[in-house]
Amino acid sequence: MTTAPRVRRPPPPFRVVTVAGTAPVGPRLTRVTLAGPGLVGFPAPEPAASIRLLLPTAGDPDLVLPDWNGNEFLRPDGTRPVLRTFTPLDPDPERGTLDLAVVRHGGGHASTWVGTAVPGAPCAVSGPGRGYTIDPGAAGYVLAGDESALPAIGQLLEAIPGSVPVRVHVEVADPAGRIPLPAHPRATVTWHDLDDPADPGSALVAALTGLDLADDERVWVAAEAASVQRVRVHLFTERGFPRSRATVRGYWKRGRAGDGDDD
Ligand SMILES: Cc1cc2nc3c(=O)[nH]c(=O)nc-3n(C[C@H](O)[C@H](O)[C@H](O)COP(=O)(O)OP(=O)(O)OC[C@H]3O[C@@H](n4cnc5c(N)ncnc54)[C@H](O)[C@@H]3O)c2cc1C
Repeated sequence: MTTAPRVRRPPPPFRVVTVAGTAPVGPRLTRVTLAGPGLVGFPAPEPAASIRLLLPTAGDPDLVLPDWNGNEFLRPDGTRPVLRTFTPLDPDPERGTLDLAVVRHGGGHASTWVGTAVPGAPCAVSGPGRGYTIDPGAAGYVLAGDESALPAIGQLLEAIPGSVPVRVHVEVADPAGRIPLPAHPRATVTWHDLDDPADPGSALVAALTGLDLADDERVWVAAEAASVQRVRVHLFTERGFPRSRATVRGYWKRGRAGDGDDD
């Protein structure tokens, strides 16, 4: 029996944009503003949504747009483009601008690109992808992540009603990366230093394992893929926390380019 190839709904088309400017947000985080007529009318994303960022490569400085083949984006010559996933920040659909905050982790295409991007540099954006729906009736929220999740955590903090308690846990590789987060009247923020670069996310796993959690709370976690797998095992297998009340995402995978999630 032959299996039909997997066909997935096409993502939104790419909008070609240019870099308008960059600004450091922390020792490893750079905010980049993208601009262009293609961003006029960009839909308002939910908090913790995503965009795909198409970056030029040495062999593709002019940014050839890829086509969707039903399962993935491919360039006309059949090769895979350089695509990375980021959290869309503050789109202005009238001016046609959109920001991203990108971790400069010392390797990787996007990390290098954001460190050297100059105004006018081309790239393209597809999105937004689905984000997170806040339940205003939840008893409380736990938000946990590393620096790649800081943009999303900031948006979630802004979206959670001020009456709802929020416990935030963030792991940073550099203590100076403890950047100000949006104010929330009932939030407590705990910063953790990265214990071991070979085991990213372990401080988050330890923090989450030590928390009291009520079943009617909500948990949102995004960090390195292997560490969030340990979080899943802890929450769902060891603790029996309801899966419907937790969102646990691998945002990147140690030693592998691209997203952390395998889906
Ligand atoms: C829904 C979603 C939203 C995201 N939002 C953001 C965001 O707003 N800002 C952001 O910076 N990232 C975000 N990420 C994570 C980002 O997509 C990955 O970190 C991506 O791998 C970065 O691409 P790169 O080209 O810099 O590195 P890659 O070429 O993908 O990876 C090269 C090497 O660097 C390592 N690496 C990748 N990312 C990191 C990291 N953060 N820290 C340490 N080492 C790393 C990899 O393991 C690999 O060994 C998001 C991911 C998802 C799924």
